[in-house]
Amino acid sequence: MKFLGKPRSQPAAFLPLCWLFLRILQPGHSHLYNNRYAGDKVIRLIPKTEEETYALKKIHHQFKVDLWQPSSISYVTEGTVTDVHISQNASRALLAFLQEANIQYKILIEDLQKVLENGNSLPTQRNRRSLSEYNYEVYHSLEEIQSWMHHLNKTHSGLIHMFSIGRSYEGRSLFILKLGRKSRAYKRAVWMDCGIHAREWIGPAFCQWFVREALLTYRSDAAMRKMLKHLYFYIMPVFNVDGYHYSWTHDRFWRKTRSRNLRFHCRGVDANRNWKVKWCDEGASMHPCDDTYCGPFPESEPEVKAVANFLRKHRKHIRAYLSFHAYAQMLLYPYSYKYATIPNFNCVESAAYKAVKALRSVYGVRYRYGPASRTLYVSSGSSMDWAYKNGIPYAFAFELRDTGHFGFLLPEMLIRPTCTETMLAVKNITMHLLKKCP
Ligand SMILES: [Zn+2]
Repeated sequence: MKFLGKPRSQPAAFLPLCWLFLRILQPGHSHLYNNRYAGDKVIRLIPKTEEETYALKKIHHQFKVDLWQPSSISYVTEGTVTDVHISQNASRALLAFLQEANIQYKILIEDLQKVLENGNSLPTQRNRRSLSEYNYEVYHSLEEIQSWMHHLNKTHSGLIHMFSIGRSYEGRSLFILKLGRKSRAYKRAVWMDCGIHAREWIGPAFCQWFVREALLTYRSDAAMRKMLKHLYFYIMPVFNVDGYHYSWTHDRFWRKTRSRNLRFHCRGVDANRNWKVKWCDEGASMHPCDDTYCGPFPESEPEVKAVANFLRKHRKHIRAYLSFHAYAQMLLYPYSYKYATIPNFNCVESAAYKAVKALRSVYGVRYRYGPASRTLYVSSGSSMDWAYKNGIPYAFAFELRDTGHFGFLLPEMLIRPTCTETMLAVKNITMHLLKKCP
């Protein structure tokens, strides 16, 4: 069974039979992604010495591991929390190697395929029939997200305007929702993008949640009403459309775009290393096969170029840039590429502090916050630094839930709590903007 094939219309008589067949298949026997992750493990390693760090780097090259955290092996030093996804075949040899070398490890996920199938509902269980009853507590394919956007554009024309800012490498439209009460008066704006990295599915889920909350509460909630009255929100629910699609159809853990390289068989560029700000320096790779590949030149990716062009054109009235990633539970602000303090540190810092405090008030979930370079790691060519350097005074990157228990496979059950608490943080930052702080 195809994971995401659109259900074709079937003659009515076949439906009960199909239903019965699907009931027998589920749960857990639907073979998402052709069962390719059966028996795969996710292991956490924290090297304690220089020798262990060296051994870990050797493992990375030798065992073809898929690094979940941090995004590049070059970031790993003593004390770095390192999560690796390893195939069933390689796991036996790897575990033996770790035991031999006396390196401590923790198995975070015993069988990746099982977690993948337990956490996500099957397409048959999903609400696809009616967009007015769109289910915000499941992950949606690109096709579903785009028809949801078209639907909102038609049904909420007073508050929502949808447009495209260009096309992806594979020719998909790059859609944006402009949200806010229409006004002839000058209005400032907030930019939000989700899904720069394909496998971080909670991001696009949050962008959709934000739109839903805005539509549901702007009449009853004074803060939301104020936000939509005084600001426009430009929301890009899926930035890396090609990568996101690929993460649904082929490789659940794909991160980059899908552009081809002339000299290497490896595809894709890290869309968060491709911006013209200290491009391809520390924390970015020049190798096309790496997950943090910066690309052949800045803005080489049509998705990055389209967003950069849009932000350049509107930078005078865009006051905040918010980007949503996963996973680490952090709220980051510039700089990413250096350790220096930003000029408007006090304003940004207090916004971050209040946002994280508001987030924690809901379920007690703790977020670390601070400059990305010190809080996460140094990375050059990121969208957040670029936005800040191009005159957007509030630039933030969220690393949403969790801290490694499910990693990229955050179960659909956790979409609601994650989005509810994140919503408070975003509203806090936005309200902060409306007050006087340069
Ligand atoms: Zn990311």
